[in-house]
Amino acid sequence: MPKHIFVTGGVVSSLGKGLTSAAIGLILEQRGYKVSIQKLDPYINVDPGTMSPYQHGEVYVTDDGAETDLDLGHYERFTHAKFSQASNFTTGKIYSSVIMKERRGDYLGRTVQVIPHITDALKEAVHQGASEEGVDVAISEIGGTVGDIESLPFLEAIRQFALEREPEDVMFVHVTLLPYLKASGELKTKPTQQSVGKLREIGIQPHVLVCRTEQPMTEEMGQKISLFCNVRPESVIEERDVAHTIYEVPVDLVNAGLDKIICKHFGLPDEEETNLDSWKAMIAELIETEEEVEIAVVGKYIQLHDAYKSIYEALSHGGFANGCKVKLRKVSAEDVLDEGTSILEGVSGLLIPGGFGERGLEGKIAAIRWARESGVPFFGICLGMQCAVIEYARNVLELEGAHTIEHSPDTPHPVIALMAEQEEVDEKGGTMRLGAYDCDLVDGSKTRALYGEEHISERHRHRYEFNNEYLERFEESEMNLVGFNPARGLVEIVELPEHPFFIGVQFHPEFKSRPLAAHPIFSGFVGAALVHSRGGSRVAEESMA
Ligand code: GLN
Repeated sequence: MPKHIFVTGGVVSSLGKGLTSAAIGLILEQRGYKVSIQKLDPYINVDPGTMSPYQHGEVYVTDDGAETDLDLGHYERFTHAKFSQASNFTTGKIYSSVIMKERRGDYLGRTVQVIPHITDALKEAVHQGASEEGVDVAISEIGGTVGDIESLPFLEAIRQFALEREPEDVMFVHVTLLPYLKASGELKTKPTQQSVGKLREIGIQPHVLVCRTEQPMTEEMGQKISLFCNVRPESVIEERDVAHTIYEVPVDLVNAGLDKIICKHFGLPDEEETNLDSWKAMIAELIETEEEVEIAVVGKYIQLHDAYKSIYEALSHGGFANGCKVKLRKVSAEDVLDEGTSILEGVSGLLIPGGFGERGLEGKIAAIRWARESGVPFFGICLGMQCAVIEYARNVLELEGAHTIEHSPDTPHPVIALMAEQEEVDEKGGTMRLGAYDCDLVDGSKTRALYGEEHISERHRHRYEFNNEYLERFEESEMNLVGFNPARGLVEIVELPEHPFFIGVQFHPEFKSRPLAAHPIFSGFVGAALVHSRGGSRVAEESMA
């Protein structure tokens, strides 16, 4: 039976509960335990797949095709846990399963209620999240903020869950905020006291308080929080804003003694130190390195950092792999059209992420043309790859008006077309081509060299695809088609061999990149950008040869 950690959040949202949960997972893994991590989200959408990236940030996709919360990206970047449909539940998903059972008559005529039926379904969701063979510690993060109306059933469910187990098998970690008042120059504890008060009203006494703060927390303040919140003083943990990178969080938590507190609570041996040497080395290198490479990300949701979270993280991993820092120039695709490609001048690489909708599409295409013609390294992901195909079709193959039928159903040259199985689809949620699919790489291609493997598997989230009616036209051209899905012959990767670095992929490699193991295309891309920044495209070309 696994031990369980429930992570709740207090005072405000966006405290970094996801990062804290991921960091706890990493710490336990480094101590040799197998962990699982899941997110329970109190909102009513069945999953975030249909939500705007502006509302919710990126949609993270698992191998089995679940469209999930972006916190799963943190979990996967920090740990080796397995993620699936059971890793993310929402109120919508829980209620639809209960209502389906009611319609089937499974409740035998009884009144169906929040307690026990919804709470039972939530407890079952916690079980499912921890059901993988051999899990020692299962972490469940509860989205939202304690005190929200919609999170009540979730808190009630985890209270019941704990009641049904031994006290040493369940731990409650509450992540809270100590706001800093500049005028009086002090941190305030009252919001934390009130938030813990709310939890205790429901019947949950947190064992650990992780206090997010901009300023150092004094020992006296820790004592005060301990007294008012009924939490042991050593379990009031400071989690200060990191100075350089989010990957410092686990190191800080271990320095604050959280690893020992968890082990003690669960009765797990804790003689040894948690070994985070490789993480510390990576952070030290990042702090030391002076070389910086600037990369433009041209997208539609540029104002919200979370909208392209995994892409930004994967770029930073590419930086770690190449011993440089990556500086982002976030450019709104519409601005490329309005102001021209001069707003891209000076960058050493261009990345176009995935996306939906027509806004900004022509700006992306113009940016790609600029990168192709000026020899600036280019990396296109999903819609970014589709735009690269359109740009090449229009400007090199002279297929006038070439387009994707997503935005131009009557185009004379639909180089990007709807996938056959999508024709019948009319519901939006969970109906794209989702999750992991195999891809065979063409021998002699740059992508094949980067991966060092012939057969790969990558995650997808799209409805449209390279139109194989144009296969021959492209094969006769300089744009090589170098990755194919073996089952269906779908084109998954395009590249320009004569360009210093020009790769477009239909899948989302950013989901599989890790800080200590950058995704090969990301490290190749940042490497090419670095070469470009040092001496221009001719040198880059030689280095890739
Ligand atoms: N809108 C495009 C499609 O559905 C691209 C999707 C994406 O970039 N994730 O095919």
